[in-house]
Amino acid sequence: MPRLAVLGYPVGHSRSPAMQSAALAELGLEGWSYEAIEVAPDAFESRAQAMPGEGFVGANVTVPHKGAALAVADELSEAVREIGAANTLVFSNGEIRAENTDADGLLRALPVAPASKRALVLGAGGAARAVVWALLREGAEVGVWNRTELRSRHLCEELGGEPVAAPEQGAYGLIVNSTAVGLGGEDPFAELPLAPGGFSPEQIVVDMVYGGERSALLRAADAAGAAIVDGIEILVQQGALSLEIWTGRPAPLDTMRAAARA
Ligand code: NAP
Repeated sequence: MPRLAVLGYPVGHSRSPAMQSAALAELGLEGWSYEAIEVAPDAFESRAQAMPGEGFVGANVTVPHKGAALAVADELSEAVREIGAANTLVFSNGEIRAENTDADGLLRALPVAPASKRALVLGAGGAARAVVWALLREGAEVGVWNRTELRSRHLCEELGGEPVAAPEQGAYGLIVNSTAVGLGGEDPFAELPLAPGGFSPEQIVVDMVYGGERSALLRAADAAGAAIVDGIEILVQQGALSLEIWTGRPAPLDTMRAAARA
């Protein structure tokens, strides 16, 4: 029976098993399963390489393995090559293919296409790289702020976009928090170059971080009338794209959303 999994370290907090299991049941794919597998970084390569022989047809890859996933793959998608990170592995015919659905997942979660919008991306880690790559490909004008400026400069040299040291919050139609700020309860307005009163109704504000309740960042943006997109919606969209790759079937988005939010 076809097996799927998410590989991470830690991975216990992942909502992917509940979300993907609900989707497999909704699609009537009886016998398919999706599990969480905790793998330490030094065991990632051997674990991933053993999976095709254990009945796995695919896997999601999460922190901290998204870069290591490139090294175990026989084939990389264009997005994976350019972003330098993979979140989806496909095992078929004895080969491992690496895909990145984080980039298109972000685009699908946006209420409107970002073409020709001015976008501000906060962060320069793996999530930010996928966001910058996706927005540039769609024709947005992208500014990148990061706490460690050297990293945003390097990111822009590699992928494009402009590093910005002190962004003017009101000048952007789209603001994406792809830092980890908020994950540990940090105050986004203390850590990021944003003010709670600086959002406007013309803006779209995205927070990739997800937890139990709406983040302080999104609460402030929503109160100002901005359109908001939370990290769960992005998780759902990237997961839906991964599921479609593995099964060849359209993903049941409403079911996945309900399971991810439960
Ligand atoms: P990462 O590679 O570890 O990068 C972390 C980023 O956060 C860096 O830019 C780092 O800045 C910044 N940062 C951390 N603490 C900060 C602070 N106190 N103040 C300012 N900046 C801070 O992580 P990642 O993989 O890019 O993930 C980032 C976040 O996105 C995580 O919370 C992750 O859960 C989330 N995410 C969500 C989805 C989804 O589907 N919703 C998908 C992917 C990631 P420095 O460079 O200065 O350290």
